[in-house]
This record gives sequence, structure tokens and C-alpha cells, in this order.
Amino acid sequence: MAHQLCLVRGDGIGPEIAEATRRCLDAAIATTDGATELVWQQVEAGVDIMETEGTPLPDATIEAIRKADAAIKAPITTPVGTGFRSVNVHLRQALNLYACVRPCKSYAGVRSKYRDIDLVIVRENTEDCYAGIEFQRATDGAEKIIDTINALAIGRKIATGRDSTGITIKPISVEATEKIVRYAFDYARANGRRKVTSVHKANIMKFTDGLWLEVSREVAKDYSDIEFEDRIVDNMCMQLVQKPELYDVIVLPNLYGDILSDLCAGLVGGLGVAPGANIGDSGAVFEATHGSAPKYKGLNKVNPTALILSGMLMLRHIGERRAADRLEQAVAAVIAEGRDVTYDMKPDRNDPTAVGTREMADAIIRKLENGRL
Ligand code: NAD
Repeated sequence: MAHQLCLVRGDGIGPEIAEATRRCLDAAIATTDGATELVWQQVEAGVDIMETEGTPLPDATIEAIRKADAAIKAPITTPVGTGFRSVNVHLRQALNLYACVRPCKSYAGVRSKYRDIDLVIVRENTEDCYAGIEFQRATDGAEKIIDTINALAIGRKIATGRDSTGITIKPISVEATEKIVRYAFDYARANGRRKVTSVHKANIMKFTDGLWLEVSREVAKDYSDIEFEDRIVDNMCMQLVQKPELYDVIVLPNLYGDILSDLCAGLVGGLGVAPGANIGDSGAVFEATHGSAPKYKGLNKVNPTALILSGMLMLRHIGERRAADRLEQAVAAVIAEGRDVTYDMKPDRNDPTAVGTREMADAIIRKLENGRL
């Protein structure tokens, strides 16, 4: 059997960790089941292709990912202060990758203040303040909205002083909320999880987060085998820091999901070990939570673990559960030994025994080839 996969090499540290990940995935498959093959198609997105094709996300890339069984995407730089819209946001919207799933799990040997964390963030990926509906201050669009709202005489006024107010619209729909909350419950069921917590700020944003909470409660009624609760987002942040063991699957609107993903990555040792998946009805893109860390570009220095673990999630997604489990065990074993790991996983970040990106991948591959996993 052959799985058709796309590889987006990305910018900055992207190409190095993409290559490390591809090699580990090939080794996981080759050492698990000789009859299965991963067929890779390299597709382009990011700063370099922008220069030659005038777009950071060519249609051909979107189409290739749509047709593939899944894609691995290394991080892409979003230049600040240019018209270049985030490729990540655009790709999620173009393929309607509505569910962002970020498991946060402790691995022995990763430095962290916490142990035994095992949480899954399920973030709605298409709506909320990330819908891209924004109006710059002192533009016609912003002024029309301000005039309209002020004319509605709802008791509150938006400042109309010169150049004063920018506007971002936060749409939250019944359809998208139902879809993501159902996804969270289905995920909980399929993965033997016991509880779903829905996060919101419904006490303040009654018609957006209030809708989210109402729909969450409705959906929960269809899953009597899974416990359900809700939390206000600020309280949730405190609870996660103080009592992370109380939580299991956490479903959130886009913005809170973005922020709490990093909080939870911090609980398990940081961005270097935080994998992720973006799942839709017509595509699945697996990527690390971290970005392209441009200052480390080309140095063979950074930690490939987050993207390799994203690849592990991809193997599960395409039905290669045994290869996925073995890859996770190989990664966990290398981290637990603490020898062939990158600088960020050493007790002292200047430890001269730290290995490079490539060498850490080599160590994982050796475990797959030699270890009894
Ligand atoms: P970043 O995650 O790239 O880097 C922040 C810091 O985290 C780095 O300086 C480094 O110290 C550390 N770090 C990140 N990844 C690491 C790894 N694999 N191993 C070891 N250390 C690691 O965040 P940033 O600096 O805010 O963003 C840089 C660029 O990446 C921006 O253009 C941003 O838009 C983009 N970005 C892309 C994605 C994506 O493609 N999914 C996600 C986040 C940020």
C-alpha cells in the first residue's frame, strides 16, 4: 500500500526539520511494515515562492494537499508589516481545516515544572478574530462601521476622534461551533478520553461566546458517555497552571485556542516538543506549534521533535497506528536517554554534547532500526 503525502518545507528552520521528519517517518514505516510505502510530493509555500510566483501559497500547492492523503508542513515565516497574509491562516481557510488538534503530553527527560500532563487542545480554526475581517483605523470601512454602530444608539459609543479606532470582527457561527465541538467529542470517544471542557468568555461576549457555550451544551447531550463541563477562559488559564491534571480534551474558539496551545506547550516543556494537526473534510495538514525561528536557519541546531511528533500524528491519521506508536516510543526513548538531543533539551543550553537536528533524527532512526519497540 502507498500513502500519497505532501511535504511543505517552509522557511527558516523549516527545511531542516522537514527533512529530519521525512526520514524518521520513512524509517518508522520501513521498520514496521515492509509492504507499506510513503510517497512524498514536495510542494512550495512561503517567502521564496512569493518572490518567483507573486504568492506565498500557490493554487497548485493547495490542490496538491487537497488530493493527498495528508501533508506535513514545516513552519512558514509571516513577514511583519507587509501585505503578505499568513500562509497558515490562508491554508486553513482554503482547505477548511476546521479542527486544530494539539496534544500536550509529558515525555520523561523533557525539562518542565510539570509531570504526567496528557491534554489535548481542540481549537476551532476558521472563525473568530482570525476570519480576517478587519478595518484599519481612519479608513472608509472602519468609519462606516463606527457611524453605523453609533447610529444604532445601543447605549455605547465607539470613539470617533481623528484616526482613533481600528476594528476586528469576531464571527462565531452555530455551524462551525457545532462542527468543532462534535469533533472534540468524537476525538474523545475514539481515543479513550473521559472529559471535554468547552472554553469561552460568555459572561462578556454574550452573542458570540454565548452562542459557543449554548451550542457546546447542546452537542454534549449526544455524548452521555463523555463528561462535559465549561470554563471561562481566564479561569481556565489559572486552572491549567495550578491543576492541569483535571483536564483532558479542551475545545476552544480560535483565539483562545491559539493562546492556550502555547500555555499547554509550556506545561510539557515548550515549543520544541509541541506537535499539531489541522484537520478538515478535504485535507489534513500536520505541523509543529512553533514557528520558523529564522535566527537558527541553516545551523542544524534546532529540535526536530515537534515536527516529528506531528508526523507521528499523521501516521495515526492515515491508519498507520503501529508505525505511529513505534515512532513515538523511539522519540520518547531518545529524549529519556538525553544523550542525542538538541541544545534546548540539555540541562545547560550551552552543553557542548548537544547534537544537531540531523543527528537527533539519526538517533531516532537507530532506535527504530535496532530497538525493541
Ligand atoms: P518561533 O516559534 O519561530 O521561535 C521562537 C523561539 O522559540 C525561537 O527563537 C527559539 O528560541 C525557540 N524555538 C522555536 N522552535 C524551536 C525548535 N524547533 N527548537 C528549538 N527552539 C525552538 O516564533 P516567532 O519567533 O514568534 O516566529 C518566527 C516566524 O515564524 C514568524 O514569521 C511567525 O509568523 C512564524 N510562525 C509560523 C508558524 C507556522 O508556520 N505554523 C507558527 C508560528 C510562527
